[in-house]
Amino acid sequence: MFGRWQKARPAPEPSIFASSYRLPNAIRYPLNAVSSFLQFAELCDALAATSKKLEKRAFIADYLKSLPVEDAGRAALWLSGTPFAETDPRVLNIGGSLLSKAIAELSGAGQEAMSAAYRRYGDFGAASADLLYGHAPANASITLAEVESGFAVIAEARGPAAKLRLFLDLLRRTTPDEAKYLIKLATGDMRTGVKQSLVEEAIAEAYAATTAAVRRADMLLGSLLEVVALAAAGRLDDARMKLFHPIGFMLASPVQTVEEAVARFTEEIRAEKSGVSEALPPDERAVDGGPDLPSEPSMGLKAAQLEDKFDGIRAQLHVSPETSAANHASRVALYSRNRDDLSESFPDLVDAFASIGEPAILDGEILAWNPTAQRALSFSSLQQRLGRKRPTPEMLRDIPAVLIVFDILYRGDALLLEQPLSHRRAVLEDFCGRWTAATLASDAGRQSDLFAARAEQAFPRLILAAAARLTSADGLDQAYVGARARGNEGVMIKSLASIYQPGRRGLAWLKLKRELATLDVVVTGVEYGNGRRAAVLSDYTFAIRDPDDPEAPLKNVGKAYSGLTDQEIADMTTWFKAHTLEEYGHFRTVEPTVVLEVAFNNLMRSTRHASGFALRFPRIVRIRIDKPVEEIDTLQRVEEIYASQPDKPVDETPVDDS
Ligand code: AMP
Repeated sequence: MFGRWQKARPAPEPSIFASSYRLPNAIRYPLNAVSSFLQFAELCDALAATSKKLEKRAFIADYLKSLPVEDAGRAALWLSGTPFAETDPRVLNIGGSLLSKAIAELSGAGQEAMSAAYRRYGDFGAASADLLYGHAPANASITLAEVESGFAVIAEARGPAAKLRLFLDLLRRTTPDEAKYLIKLATGDMRTGVKQSLVEEAIAEAYAATTAAVRRADMLLGSLLEVVALAAAGRLDDARMKLFHPIGFMLASPVQTVEEAVARFTEEIRAEKSGVSEALPPDERAVDGGPDLPSEPSMGLKAAQLEDKFDGIRAQLHVSPETSAANHASRVALYSRNRDDLSESFPDLVDAFASIGEPAILDGEILAWNPTAQRALSFSSLQQRLGRKRPTPEMLRDIPAVLIVFDILYRGDALLLEQPLSHRRAVLEDFCGRWTAATLASDAGRQSDLFAARAEQAFPRLILAAAARLTSADGLDQAYVGARARGNEGVMIKSLASIYQPGRRGLAWLKLKRELATLDVVVTGVEYGNGRRAAVLSDYTFAIRDPDDPEAPLKNVGKAYSGLTDQEIADMTTWFKAHTLEEYGHFRTVEPTVVLEVAFNNLMRSTRHASGFALRFPRIVRIRIDKPVEEIDTLQRVEEIYASQPDKPVDETPVDDS
């Protein structure tokens, strides 16, 4: 079958090594060899060449339809940018240095040629393809099934040397165009502008299903391989929840002020004063016990819940009793917002939650906890734990973690996502009532050596987030002040009628966190960015003034790489190249003349920068061409802002947050 994407294939990108460039052989490729990886690579090129979403979707749908179901499953999965399904714990573990070695070996390119190619493309796959022209077979092609088994043996191999050998075996059988996408897949950086959601839409189009049915099946199963099989068989409704793959996190939209939050949650209320369920039809609502006269519509607040916005890391807990486990411990996994498995970093939590004897998925925030004060430790404490893959016993003792939960998505055999928050909250309260006490981490025959020494530290690791009703603007203001005083970042406002929408940032959840302040700073150092920004100087280190120190009047206070437009970054790159003081590889110091206004969420003490402070979540608001360096903010101003922070870190010892 000749798909729409084949007709639309772009002219191949010209190679920088023009003499060794070969015309991709797809045009000569037999069209019925449907499961070749080359055809997959060509589709990816066609996808990268169009920015039109509908066109991309049509290309993918045509392609999937042309393949046997198993191959369509493989292709759908890889198009979403990952070599293995979400429910599949295998990983390739092929990092940048291993890939560089592989490409150097196959192409004979030296370090300089490799860096130059990378700079040119900002993308390892495309750069590698370029280097491989003339050094790789021009006509070979492997099948999708062969790539799949190649990935399987690489995932199984132990140690970089074995992995390198196996990856080279695979690459030796590929043309440069195929190698490009093999590498992109291995690094998870496809750059085709195709997200999982678009693949889901294309599956729906290919197999005449609804997108909603495909999305739901994918959310439940966590495997596009299985979704394609069900879609092709017309059995998407048979999908049932599988635990141990992360479900997308529901996100909140920002609001700057209490007034804005209240305005967003104000709606027309028809039967005011009823106090009874708004679900009742108007003629069943009694007002003040009197006859139920039709009431004038008036404005009122939507039923909403307020929670503190905790300053830790978002995590999804999956827990399920294992019938096979001799000690009745449950299987436990914690996933991050980026879908990483956090379990290894939080053995104290995994251990504590193994006592939960009921299958469930909970949504919450991991915090470093001070059990005596019953409040969170600073984010920088948690960061110390995050800096290592496995925490040391000392860290487990000094920086214990908790999961503070605010939502429940699944319990027993009930999927709760499609229930309103009011119902989910009731289930969550019941769940915590039943299991919180069981999550004392020191109650551990399991990892006794880790925890026995500190029985006095026993405290539940599952904590229910407090919730209050939104009643008025004043109430919200007080909740915000209270949250900040408790060391939290701000307040979340959540509609009680809202369902849990995985991966969506909607208006059903709002986050109110005021920006602390902005600082005017001067750029002192710059470096190249990553990916799309690999060839431009986009990461800026900046300083404030210290008038009391004539020896070092400028003191660095942070680094930011977001907020400027591409054009501004391009202009800045030219400027900084011409005003470089010293070059240290990727980093260069520059003449301190460019003034920026930066916003941030918090100030912390830190040994990372000379000022003794670091900014949390800094972003560039604008370039202040109007402002001379002599007028930028001072260390004294930074100290004032720090002093005015209601939620200064609990442990104020300087930390190295690098
Ligand atoms: P932001 O990272 O600023 O987009 O804010 C969203 C993040 O707030 C979420 O991903 C959570 O990590 C965090 N968060 C803290 N407390 C809550 C809460 N009570 N409900 C939902 N998200 C929360």
